[in-house]
Amino acid sequence: MQPRDLSAHVPYEAGRGIEEVARELGFDPEDLVKLSSNENAWGPSPEAVVALREAAGTVHTYPKAAHTDLTEALADEWDVAPAQVWLANGGDGALDYLARATLDPGDEVLVSDPGFAYYAMSARYHHGRVNEYPLRKADDFEQTAETVLDHYDGERVVYVTSPHNPTGSEMPLDEVETLADRTDEETLVVVDEAYGEFSASPSAVRLVRERDDVAVLRTFSKAYGLAGVRLGYALVPEPWADAYARVNTPFAASELACRAGLAALGDEAHVEQAVEGVRWAREHLRSELDCPTWPSQGNFVLAEVGDATRTFEAAKGRGVIVRDTSSFGLPECVRVTCGTEEQTKRAVEVLNEVA
Ligand SMILES: *Cc1c(COP(=O)(O)O)cnc(C)c1O
Repeated sequence: MQPRDLSAHVPYEAGRGIEEVARELGFDPEDLVKLSSNENAWGPSPEAVVALREAAGTVHTYPKAAHTDLTEALADEWDVAPAQVWLANGGDGALDYLARATLDPGDEVLVSDPGFAYYAMSARYHHGRVNEYPLRKADDFEQTAETVLDHYDGERVVYVTSPHNPTGSEMPLDEVETLADRTDEETLVVVDEAYGEFSASPSAVRLVRERDDVAVLRTFSKAYGLAGVRLGYALVPEPWADAYARVNTPFAASELACRAGLAALGDEAHVEQAVEGVRWAREHLRSELDCPTWPSQGNFVLAEVGDATRTFEAAKGRGVIVRDTSSFGLPECVRVTCGTEEQTKRAVEVLNEVA
């Protein structure tokens, strides 16, 4: 037998792991600067590391209390009811729950081009169909209600990424509100704030509190430095929050993930360190890279290098890994994650040499 027809499903290609690349190049992993996956260059919260070690001894039980504790801590943090916090295996897992809760077979969703691949993948897994709205380089990837509404045709879900991956642009909160106002009553606007901590703009969670058609996505993978534990969540409107119990994989976030998340949430100094480091690196990349770049509110900068694949390969040969954004729909650009001072300076040197 065969799986169902998956020919419309585009395989997800993650940036490659540092060990893999080091082996291929004959480098020591320590000598590689890997700025391709928007990971936290300062590592995980030390308090999360302690929590993970401590939790290791109790992983024979289901994560009942840890799941509840983290849900309540996040509800507190965002001033929503615990039922509105949908914990998941990464932000990507939360996207799946939103798709499961909203899409009937054949329903359509609207995603940005260029954009984050997983929205479309998740919609297709859930028998949805995918339409796109362009973010234009000529407009510096500006995001307004109008840029989306020009291409909106009653889709069930509209995905907004703010800050946007891979461009770094944002949709101002009043524009998100206009978008939600002007889309149909049965359309959900998902605001993906995976990079929200790095931005000075307010979260769209205010709209989640006020209305029934906006959800917000957050993750512990970026500012909290917990990409490896896979922990994220959606904040959903109160009126339909109880759908979680009907769509989630039981105990979607593991005991280890929940304990690490709780500890990281309490470690404000760690997040601040990452946010400050990212601010410096963003400035440095923008002022020192010779090629055109765009303002970014994320922990990365998009750079127009001409031929992304060639630049990627040449930089890799010198031990600096960046993300070729061809798969995002930008074959002339690379995305450079904000690293430590040392990593970022080295990336600038190498990119200026090869681009
Ligand atoms: C990283 C990222 C996510 C979430 O990633 P997880 O590791 O699954 O939490 C979601 N959206 C965007 C745009 C991202 O870049």
